[in-house]
Amino acid sequence: METAVEVLNRVWGYAGFRGQQAEIIDHVIGGGDALVLMPTGGGKSLCYQIPALVRPGVAVVVSPLIALMQDQVDALRTLGVRAGFLNSTQDPDERRLMEYAFRNGELDLLYVAPERVSVRATQELFDSAKIALFAIDEAHCVSQWGHDFRPDYLQLSMLHERWPDVPRIALTATATVATRTEIAQRLNLGDARHFTASFDRPNIQYRIVPKNSPQKQLLGLLQAEHAGESGIVYCLSRASVEKTAEFLVQQGIRAMPYHAGLDSGMRARNQSRFLREDGIVMVATIAFGMGIDKPDVRFVAHLDLPKSVEGYYQETGRAGRDGLPSTAWLAYGLQDVVQQRRLIDTSEGDLAHRRNMSAHLDAMLALCETVECRRAQILGYFGEQTDEKCGNCDTCLQPPEAWDGTVAAQKLLSTVLRLQRERGQKFGAGQSIDILMGKTTDKVTQFRHDQLSVFGVGADLREPEWRGVVRQLLAQGLLSVEGDYGTLVLTDRSASVLRGESKVMMRREVTRPGAAKTSKPK
Ligand code: ADP
Ligand code: ZN
Repeated sequence: METAVEVLNRVWGYAGFRGQQAEIIDHVIGGGDALVLMPTGGGKSLCYQIPALVRPGVAVVVSPLIALMQDQVDALRTLGVRAGFLNSTQDPDERRLMEYAFRNGELDLLYVAPERVSVRATQELFDSAKIALFAIDEAHCVSQWGHDFRPDYLQLSMLHERWPDVPRIALTATATVATRTEIAQRLNLGDARHFTASFDRPNIQYRIVPKNSPQKQLLGLLQAEHAGESGIVYCLSRASVEKTAEFLVQQGIRAMPYHAGLDSGMRARNQSRFLREDGIVMVATIAFGMGIDKPDVRFVAHLDLPKSVEGYYQETGRAGRDGLPSTAWLAYGLQDVVQQRRLIDTSEGDLAHRRNMSAHLDAMLALCETVECRRAQILGYFGEQTDEKCGNCDTCLQPPEAWDGTVAAQKLLSTVLRLQRERGQKFGAGQSIDILMGKTTDKVTQFRHDQLSVFGVGADLREPEWRGVVRQLLAQGLLSVEGDYGTLVLTDRSASVLRGESKVMMRREVTRPGAAKTSKPK
């Protein structure tokens, strides 16, 4: 029998295994269950493809990425691997041919969509041939708290009950410690060995900047550091995807839009141009990217705040799969916090669901406002503690000053308190800042806010600094927003700041626009 490394050399032409691949592959070939956590680009596919070739029978790969099955199968066939797939895009004839090949032992790997597994006909098909292993790709889709939850994944625990002797390998690039436990539990993988690779992507430089004029900031980044290079720009809404793509095209950049509102032909065209051509900037909602394997994506830029650190990590992880220096850049502002809080407040889920979304947002905000190494914070979030500073993120390259913002916080919070107590009014951040700075705008005059005792007491800070104060208070849970207009309201924890019982440390706004890069003068 050919060994795993012989198969790697002969079929893929690769010299050796990377990281934990060899260990994982040996374990699965030996019939053990495995739960594999490896960052995007880490080489998860080989962990089931090689056992598929070494073990007798057909490997069944459950994958939610229906749109990519054809590509995956084509790539394997080019290498001479006998692969096929079963999903809803096929007509009955194609499906019958595939089933025939399966029954006759003419396949090494069969990719199936998760919804097919619970269908009786599929299970009977599985009974009709020897199964080498089950691979469950994107295993985090079984987590009900995750952003990629697929109800069909819950059925997959049945694989173990029905085929107890077939080894299973579950793989994912994204999982906190809690998600890991949930995957093991829901997929009935209690005896599986866990393989956890480091989530560090040392070649990605993490940078998070205050959002002032996002399109201009983005353009500055592209022109100064990534001219002519491939990258992805993520926006929250379809409308901002369109606007941003248009703006970039006007500026002479080869940008293309991608979102679920475009017709499927256009989506497919844009995606394949992005994959095949050099130097295309894909402006997209998060509908774009899952399973995209383009090695030379040089930057991922976010113009809106991701909903969670998991999402941020997964999206930024699409940069630099070839290991070369790449940038993960995020512009983040007060409006993002207001908008995301509103999304949570108006979401359909129950209270537990909203709390969960809220906790995810808080972790993301903490990452944005940290004065510590961003990478250390991200890795810590995934359970990898490190005290080292990475030297390749904005806070390491240009350490932000922390300042004692207690007095500023008290001024801002007492403005909110006074508006509410003395006037029975609630306003957004803009009005509170105008009051503090002593601006006699029409709205200030109309509401006689110039007569409040706090009027003008904040003239020592400039407007961007006040916006930073509001943002950081929101991030620290010392202030909250509600309603469609993002009106500011106090929280349970505001009182202790107002009473002077707790100190509030803040991150000083870096006023220099754009980059933390010290090496490239501009
Ligand atoms: P993942 O699924 O973890 O995101 P892939 O399985 O797509 O990662 O692998 C990422 C890239 O690395 C692919 O182009 C793959 O061919 C390559 N690769 C994986 N393992 C090896 C190896 N041992 N030697 C060389 N290249 C590898
Ligand atoms: Zn760092």
